[in-house]
Amino acid sequence: MTTYNITMLPGDGIGPEIMREVKRVMAWVEETHGVSFDVTDGLIGGCAYEADGVPLSDETLATAKASDAILMGAVGGPQWDGQVPYDKRPEAGLLRLRKELDLFANLRPAMCFDALADASSLKREIVAGLDILFVRELAGGVYFGEPRGIENLPGGGRVGINTQRYTDAEIIRISRVAFDMARKRDGRVHSAEKANVMEAGVLWREEVTKLHAAEYADVKLEHILADNCAMQLVKAPKQFDVILTDNLFGDLLSDAAAMLTGSLGMLPSASLGDGGPGLYEPVHGSAPDIAGENLANPIAAILSFAMALRYSLNMGDAADQVEAAVSKALDSVRTGDIYADGFTRVGTDGMGDAILTALKH
Ligand code: NAD
Repeated sequence: MTTYNITMLPGDGIGPEIMREVKRVMAWVEETHGVSFDVTDGLIGGCAYEADGVPLSDETLATAKASDAILMGAVGGPQWDGQVPYDKRPEAGLLRLRKELDLFANLRPAMCFDALADASSLKREIVAGLDILFVRELAGGVYFGEPRGIENLPGGGRVGINTQRYTDAEIIRISRVAFDMARKRDGRVHSAEKANVMEAGVLWREEVTKLHAAEYADVKLEHILADNCAMQLVKAPKQFDVILTDNLFGDLLSDAAAMLTGSLGMLPSASLGDGGPGLYEPVHGSAPDIAGENLANPIAAILSFAMALRYSLNMGDAADQVEAAVSKALDSVRTGDIYADGFTRVGTDGMGDAILTALKH
C-alpha cells in the first residue's frame, strides 16, 4: 500500500473546523483507494505564535518540507492585528512557508458548479460550466523586483518605485507548468501580459512562444493583452482553459474570475515548487466573524485537498470523485454563505455529511 506523508496546518479562526471535514474526506480516500495518509498536524499563524513565539517554527517547517503535500486552513485574526511584531504576525508564517519551499506556481481554478450558476453576478448561460485554471507566477515580478521604495526627490516631493522584473528562466519555468496543466485539461493556454507597453511583457511573450514551439506544439497557445483578458473574462469567460500570467496580473485576474463563480467559501488553490511538496489552501481567510460557530463552508478546503490528490499525489480519479461529490451535495444542502431558497441550510459538519454521503453512493 502506498503511504503519503501529509502535513496538516489548520491555522486560526475557521481553519480547524474546515480541516476536520477534510480529514473525513481523506479517510474516505484511504478506505476506497488503497492508500494511507500519514498525517502530521502542525501549527501556523497566530496559534503558532501563542504556542512557540513564532508564526511557523523550524520544526513545523522541516516536517512540511519532508512531506508529500501540505494542507493548510487559514491564518490571522483581530487578536494579533497590530498586537505582535511585524515579522511575527500570522501571515509571516505563511509567507515563510511559501518562500522556503520556493513555491513559484500558484494554481487557482475558477469553476462554476451548475448548482451555483444563479449566484453569479453574470447571467447563468455565461458562467454555467465555467472551468478556468489560472497559472500565476508567484515568486517574482513587481512585488519583489528591485529597485523599490519611497524616496524624496531632490527638488521636493516624493517618488514611489517598484520594478517589474522577470528573467527568461523565471518565465520558462512558470510557462512549463501552464503547458503541462493544459495537456491534462482542454489543451489550450492563453498567455496574458502587456507586451504593447512593457519590455518585461515583450520578453514574456518571446519566451513563452519559444518554449511552446520547442516542446509544447501540441498545446494551442494564444497571447492576449492582460487588459483585454480582463474584459473577456466578464464578457465570455468560457473561451478560456488555462490562463498563464505573471504575479501582478494574476493577482487581479484570478480574483475577478473567482468572483464569477460564487462565494469565497468555494475557492481552492495550490502553490507548487520544483519537485518539493505543494501547498494546498482555500483562497479565503480565517473568517474570525464566524469562527467556532459551525457556520463555515468547508468546500474550498475540501476542493484544495482534491487539488492535492490531483497534483501532488497522482490520484486524479479520486480528485474527480471528490469534485463530483461536492457538486452533488450542492444540489440539496447549502451553508449560509451560499444559501438560496429551496435548499436545506446546514453547518460546516452538515456540508461534510452531505459530501461524504455523495461519495458513498
Ligand atoms: P476572510 O476571507 O477571512 O473573510 C471574508 C468574509 O467571507 C467574511 O465575512 C467571512 O465570514 C466570509 N468567509 C470566508 N471564508 C468563508 C467560508 N469558508 N465559509 C463562509 N464564509 C466565509 O477575509 P478577511 O475577513 O478579510 O480576513 C480575516 C483574517 O484572515 C485576517 O486576519 C486576514 O489577514 C486573514 N487572511 C488569511 C488568508 C490566508 O490564510 N491565506 C487569506 C486572506 C485573509
